[in-house]
Amino acid sequence: MQRRFIPAVLLFVTLLLILAGLGARMNAVPVISFAAEKEIYLTFDDGPSTSVTEKVLDILKEENIKATFFIVSDRVQGREKTLRRIAAEGHTLGVHSKTHVYSEIYSSAGALLKDAEACAETIRRVTGINPRVYRFPGGGEHPASAKLLRQHGYRIVGWNAVCGDEEIRGADAETLYSSAVETAKGKRPVVLLMHDSATHRATAEALPLIIEHFRAEGYTFSAF
Ligand SMILES: [Zn+2]
Repeated sequence: MQRRFIPAVLLFVTLLLILAGLGARMNAVPVISFAAEKEIYLTFDDGPSTSVTEKVLDILKEENIKATFFIVSDRVQGREKTLRRIAAEGHTLGVHSKTHVYSEIYSSAGALLKDAEACAETIRRVTGINPRVYRFPGGGEHPASAKLLRQHGYRIVGWNAVCGDEEIRGADAETLYSSAVETAKGKRPVVLLMHDSATHRATAEALPLIIEHFRAEGYTFSAF
């Protein structure tokens, strides 16, 4: 048994070396143990919007991928159907903010909690789902607010990679794709920040490229 096993191991190592050189062709060989270690969370902030969120949902459905949407609840009115679609298609609804107005949210830890709870209440009323994940508008460390949110049962989710749709003015799909790939390098797992508010059509255009890349690299797609 041992002697038979050695050529198989050598073959495997050789294959890995070849694959390391080929990079993007990882998907050609089912290296299951690698896939389990490589994980990416696609996250979308600042929606829902009619145009971009619906497009993103179409793509995710076609690709059979679940993602996480951090909602701005003041943008829900008139888009209840889109919010319900996010839930119905198995994605995670997270709390981002009611207003997304920094001067109001960050005036005190109590103000931030009130804003978060208002957003959560809208999500509950429209979808029946009680959201348990939270993302700070604008990111950053907010220890007092974070403590308060955790006491109220929220898991706080940041990010470690960006597609650049807020950072790079007027970026096209190709630029967003490149930014996602570059900033995700060396991250385990990757938590990729994207936006699905109305001005982010290029993000929806970049999404298939981003999915194709990470799938080819052997990543699994997860939602919070
Ligand atoms: Zn935001």
